[in-house]
Amino acid sequence: MDCLFCKISNKEIPSTVVYETDDVIAFNDITPQAPVHIVIIPKHHISSPADITAENCDIAGKMFLAASEIAKKLNLEKGFRIVSNCGEDGGQTVQHLHLHLLAQRSLAWPPG
Ligand code: AMP
Ligand code: ZN
Repeated sequence: MDCLFCKISNKEIPSTVVYETDDVIAFNDITPQAPVHIVIIPKHHISSPADITAENCDIAGKMFLAASEIAKKLNLEKGFRIVSNCGEDGGQTVQHLHLHLLAQRSLAWPPG
């Protein structure tokens, strides 16, 4: 499958990996929107949050666990934001489920 994040997960495309388990991998975003901007993905391809089902939803917990563990490792006690863009209106550009973990700057709400 011609999927950028599957290729990053398979190490066919290099990235700066900051966290990895059997199921999840996280790496620095190539176009960071904050001093800390990490992308957290399942290794197994799921296209978007809209494709989470009763059968595959355990991975969502593992992705949030990754975010929590990364936040502890990076001492993000001041806070952080987790975002998952979905579909055209949600601004999703890579069709492989991911969380953005953003930190170390003040983030506006609502995001606009
Ligand atoms: P989204 O727009 O929510 O689908 O997020 C996709 C993210 O992937 C964007 O923030 C991009 O900057 C990031 N991205 C695209 N290509 C790469 C890459 N080769 N390595 C790391 N991050 C990437
Ligand atoms: Zn993929």
